[in-house]
Amino acid sequence: MTGEQFHQAATSVIDEIEIYYRGLASRPVLPSISPGYLRKLLPSEAPANGEAWQDIGRDIERAIMPGITHWQSPKYMAFFPASSTYPGILGEMWSAALTAPAFNWICSPAVTELETIVLDWLAKILGLPDVFLSHGEGGGVIQGSASEAVVTVMVAARERFVRHQTKREGITDIEEAEDRSCEIRSKLVALGSDQAHSSTKKAAMIAGTRFRSIPTVRENEFALTGSQLRQTIEELCSKGLHPYYLTVSIGTTNTCAVDDFKSIAAVARDYPDIWIHCDAAYAGAALVLPEYHYLAKHMELVDSFDMNMHKWLLTNFDASCLYVQKRKHLTDALSITPAYLKNQFTDSGLVTDYRDWQIPLGRRFRSLKIWFVLRTWGIEGLRQHIKHHLRLGDLFADLIRSREDLFSTLTSPKFALTVFTVKPRRSQSAIPNDQTNGHDPRPYQDQHLPVVPDVSNEELQLANDLTKQVYTAIDEKQEFFLTASVVGG
Ligand code: PLP
Repeated sequence: MTGEQFHQAATSVIDEIEIYYRGLASRPVLPSISPGYLRKLLPSEAPANGEAWQDIGRDIERAIMPGITHWQSPKYMAFFPASSTYPGILGEMWSAALTAPAFNWICSPAVTELETIVLDWLAKILGLPDVFLSHGEGGGVIQGSASEAVVTVMVAARERFVRHQTKREGITDIEEAEDRSCEIRSKLVALGSDQAHSSTKKAAMIAGTRFRSIPTVRENEFALTGSQLRQTIEELCSKGLHPYYLTVSIGTTNTCAVDDFKSIAAVARDYPDIWIHCDAAYAGAALVLPEYHYLAKHMELVDSFDMNMHKWLLTNFDASCLYVQKRKHLTDALSITPAYLKNQFTDSGLVTDYRDWQIPLGRRFRSLKIWFVLRTWGIEGLRQHIKHHLRLGDLFADLIRSREDLFSTLTSPKFALTVFTVKPRRSQSAIPNDQTNGHDPRPYQDQHLPVVPDVSNEELQLANDLTKQVYTAIDEKQEFFLTASVVGG
């Protein structure tokens, strides 16, 4: 493809993308194909000779679109929001154009320096304590996902624990230290509440240590508390095991629970060897609002903090922003410098080589899209975006609460997430029987919908439709849980 052909193809792709977004609301959100559909539409071998872009591009609509779930549709309500925005897309385009696996500063200084700068900007917007900024001992680094961030810090935590322990034991001989390190690692236990995302358990599998989950209860809104944490730690220590890592959460996956940082901090003081990581993958975006900065203040407690801009903060996948109080702990665990990676700038100690803050060597220019997003929206724009979604979430929660005969909320709605149970049909005898499994088919249309400032009629209708869909889908036989996050608009 020549430059001229690229220009033509790219222009038409941009047109098509814009048309796609414009018509997105009218597409069905879910594909209606069966597993293996694509094999029937594509040849069994790669083409022997190159094809023209026209033919390749046509296959997006013919072969790919039928198998796409439209996560960007305003009607998409599953899992969590996965942002895609035009400035984010533009960042991706430039990143692809400048492709450079910038593992060392010298590979492309702008890639490293922009990342450091925009992550400092973001830390300030989120209200994180200054210890996470790059001018001191801390700093931020972009990871591919929150799960990758957990693995990375868990390995750093493991090695920090082992180093401290061998030092305490006065071991200086390298081989002896290596043997003893293996013994220590075999006793290590990573911790997370039973509501923490499964990435903590997976990271422990990868790091080769045990994992224990700490129970939470509904009375505490499924938040991890200091007393449960202390009990678990004491039980493990009494068995000769060493807790070395803990995930705390701002916004757990099931119910967006926020752990009880105050009581956890009291326990953490007694166990300084335990690395505490805060997973704020989804709800961390809400910290752009000053009213949530009280949560950010608690982050003095944690060694590391991670939030995904690619979930709720207008940035295309992937942009998981990981911060550490002491970058030394990452580089101590992950730095390895063969001759081909050495250079005078690394040796000078004046530059950051992000390869030492992550698992892979190469890395993409991901800070560009974050930069474009932050500049396009500005801090005020980000706040309005989150505020708007919180209002939509409140609206949905109100609609759910207005039908106590059908639904009960499981926890108090948080971060635009409402978690509720659907009451079983058996308890609905007072409701007239009809085609919707015994539930009144006209739940809202004759009712006065709540007035919510800045929520459009379309959005009101959308939330209303969603609640209708929920109860018409009620399972006859048993109670079940549904969660819905209204952050489409
Ligand atoms: N942590 C929480 C609280 C999540 O909700 C999720 C995904 O839903 C993750 C971590 C994993 O995110 P990622 O896909 O970036 O690894």
